Amino acid sequence: MESLLEINNLKTYFYSENGEVPAVDGVSITVKKGETLGIVGESGSGKSVTALTAMRLSQGKVMGGSVKFKGIDLLSLSDEEMRKIRGKEIAMIFQEPMTSLNPVFTVGNQIMEAIQTHMDVGKSKAKERAVELLALVGIPRPEQIVNEYPHRLSGGMRQRVMIAMAMACNPSLLIADEPTTALDVTIQAQILDLMRDLKEKHNTAIMMITHDLGVVAETCDRVCVMYGGKVVEESDVQEIFKNPKHPYTQGLLKSVPTLIDSEQQTRLYSIEGNVPIPGSLREGCYFAPRCEFAMEICRTKAPAFKEVEPGHFNRCWLHELDERGELDVKQLVE
Ligand code: SF4
Ligand code: MG
Repeated sequence: MESLLEINNLKTYFYSENGEVPAVDGVSITVKKGETLGIVGESGSGKSVTALTAMRLSQGKVMGGSVKFKGIDLLSLSDEEMRKIRGKEIAMIFQEPMTSLNPVFTVGNQIMEAIQTHMDVGKSKAKERAVELLALVGIPRPEQIVNEYPHRLSGGMRQRVMIAMAMACNPSLLIADEPTTALDVTIQAQILDLMRDLKEKHNTAIMMITHDLGVVAETCDRVCVMYGGKVVEESDVQEIFKNPKHPYTQGLLKSVPTLIDSEQQTRLYSIEGNVPIPGSLREGCYFAPRCEFAMEICRTKAPAFKEVEPGHFNRCWLHELDERGELDVKQLVE
């Protein structure tokens, strides 16, 4: 499959009184045409900053790497050129639709603006298209809703409006950052269904940013697991659920509640310890303080990101274990 977005060795740092904070620390991610790629990890893992940097919306400083969309280097475009791509070719939706919708304009006006920013169409054509889009995302009575203000709609309906705006120009890539986190489970399932539908009908590629492996299982073709500003594991979705390699991924999977578990809320497994404060760890494997398999070498030397099976990549010393189950440390340290 042809690649659409190629992020290569991207580094985004923030600067605070406490010094340099590498929020994105050498991330390489490819989204292929028409696929849904999940970016999963706890909050603070760098997934949102990666996407925001790619869209040129991050406050951080880009310290290295490249972002190519359809072969165009996004990081070297002028602001004006970037604005043309954002919204038209790449659209974004976020967790909290109320913060992205303007409360003083009707939803129709906001969708029309999204259309007219990128397309040369008059007001009445734009309104027609807004109604079409509302119907497309499953909003009942779109001719009426088009004249409503955002606060008159439910959270699920507002998220549908956001998706309608995002789809306004038929983007080839949709970046969705925790699009269903603020919604209750039933509505969440409907929104994920809708996104799957749109992807199939319009061949839109989706970068699905989430902390929720359930969302990944429902929607994604492939997944990148992020930890401490780095991708630690990557594979197709079936493989990651069947055969997770990285101890962090294994921990995340254990924390997915199962349907048979009636006390799931209280019995959620959680990975001990917290996400490292970005910048606090600069040596070895960043997961070592929380890893039950951590070895001596893990604390001093960073493992490389290696293809351990076709299409399955892992960043962990464990796969370097030899047949005797021991690590040939001498060889590794050299
Ligand atoms: Fe755990 Fe070591 Fe693998 Fe890091 S490299 S995940 S500390 S075993
Ligand atoms: Mg985030």
